[in-house]
Amino acid sequence: MKVTLLGTGSPIPDANRAGPSTLVQASGQHILVDCGRGCVMRLTGAGVFPPFLSAILLTHLHSDHISDLNDLVTSRWIMSPQPIVTHIYGPVGTQQVVDGLLQMLALDEQYRCDHHADLRSGPGMQIMVTEVSPGDTFTIGDVRVVVGRTDHRPVAPTVGFRFEAEGKVATLAGDTVPCDELDALCRDADIYVQTVLRPDMVDAMKQLLPAQAPRLNDILNYHSSVEDAGRTAARCNVKTLMLTHYVPAMQPGQEAEWIAQAAAHFSGNIVAGPDLTSVEA
Ligand SMILES: [Zn+2]
Ligand SMILES: [Zn+2]
Repeated sequence: MKVTLLGTGSPIPDANRAGPSTLVQASGQHILVDCGRGCVMRLTGAGVFPPFLSAILLTHLHSDHISDLNDLVTSRWIMSPQPIVTHIYGPVGTQQVVDGLLQMLALDEQYRCDHHADLRSGPGMQIMVTEVSPGDTFTIGDVRVVVGRTDHRPVAPTVGFRFEAEGKVATLAGDTVPCDELDALCRDADIYVQTVLRPDMVDAMKQLLPAQAPRLNDILNYHSSVEDAGRTAARCNVKTLMLTHYVPAMQPGQEAEWIAQAAAHFSGNIVAGPDLTSVEA
């Protein structure tokens, strides 16, 4: 089982970090979790062309986690020699997002059908949405996926995913503060991926940007800090903790400083780095 951080950025634009997106590869499946800014470029960088994706899973519908869904859907349609269905799993609301997306892409679909006979004779963009709820399980090939509730309030519903395959477990938490349901998803995982922020650095930003202080306070209380992630990893007997979605953007050379904050609470393996950092279990 291999987990690759395709995009380690956040809503804050960064020239070197794509938006939140992570690839899980196991039992011959290529599963994408979230699809933020630039994820198709990073997916290609990881050696997976869009038509070869098995499924797209969404933890929640915040724009930074879904902003390149349109690129994925379109690229799969026009790059595939045979018609393929794009399977999208996400929380309640995902169908509404996909319906809007298809409306946005309707003119493009028409242009391409008018131009290319093979596309015109096919079924067009085919998307199958499955809205999932906490407690649901489903399979993608031989990969079993468990859906769990996360706590990113006031954003709701939000979910995390536990992947079980090849005798290994990877948990992708998405944006959440620590909670019992997250612990259940992470229990004894080989790899636990957590989106994180650094409250000390956000506090420093508030000093520099006092007008933004209320907004910055808002983001503090619905994300795990790096230290929270370390505590969750320790509590749940995780083997490897992967940090991603760095808020504010982690600068090159700062990896050790971020890892140290998690290591204060967790003695296992901790990974942080640039886009395309990966771990195998
Ligand atoms: Zn979010
Ligand atoms: Zn986010």
